[in-house]
Amino acid sequence: MEINEMTQKECGAFLATASLGRLACSFDNQPYVVPIYFVYEPDYIYVLSTFGQKTEWMRANPKVCLEVDEITSQSQWMSVIASGRYQELPEPQYTAEREHARRLLGKRYQWWQNALGERQLRLGDDLITPLFFRIHIDSMTGLRAIGESAECGKASLE
Ligand SMILES: Cc1cc2nc3c(=O)[nH]c(=O)nc-3n(C[C@H](O)[C@H](O)[C@H](O)COP(=O)(O)OP(=O)(O)OC[C@H]3O[C@@H](n4cnc5c(N)ncnc54)[C@H](O)[C@@H]3O)c2cc1C
Repeated sequence: MEINEMTQKECGAFLATASLGRLACSFDNQPYVVPIYFVYEPDYIYVLSTFGQKTEWMRANPKVCLEVDEITSQSQWMSVIASGRYQELPEPQYTAEREHARRLLGKRYQWWQNALGERQLRLGDDLITPLFFRIHIDSMTGLRAIGESAECGKASLE
């Protein structure tokens, strides 16, 4: 198995096709990781989010990273880490950016917005009012493992 570094272009192309990542933030020397759906476009990662521990922590410490991977097998995988800064998109300062995020995320995650709306109606809880944020990407790294093909493995057993 070979493990190679991915170029910036490859990292970007991978993030553009991916949808689920692990968002890491930290506060007071305590790390915190949650799965989230996102949309990538060059320099930014957009997220529709509930308010809670992660948003409180990211407000206090905007340095975050997102890990995204695609694992086909133990010897065939890709993993990209994008590091950057949390930026919330409240009204009215970020109306244009918010609309942009809504359009991007709405294309893929209508179900998630519906689920949030339904839960909010049921619980009548303002705290789950969704908010939009983006991560301004400062750096990206990627690793790709390329294993021997299944066919090669099979041939060597014969
Ligand atoms: C496939 C998938 C996709 C998701 N996509 C999104 C998304 O796009 N946007 C979004 O906002 N949320 C998404 N979630 C939910 C997300 O992972 C968090 O659970 C949620 O956002 C609440 O996080 P919080 O920090 O606000 O937690 P709070 O509601 O503030 O709860 C804090 C407490 O609950 C625990 N907790 C919170 N989340 C989790 C978890 N996932 N697993 C275990 N313990 C947890 C924490 O340890 C903490 O002690 C997704 C979850 C999954 C599984």
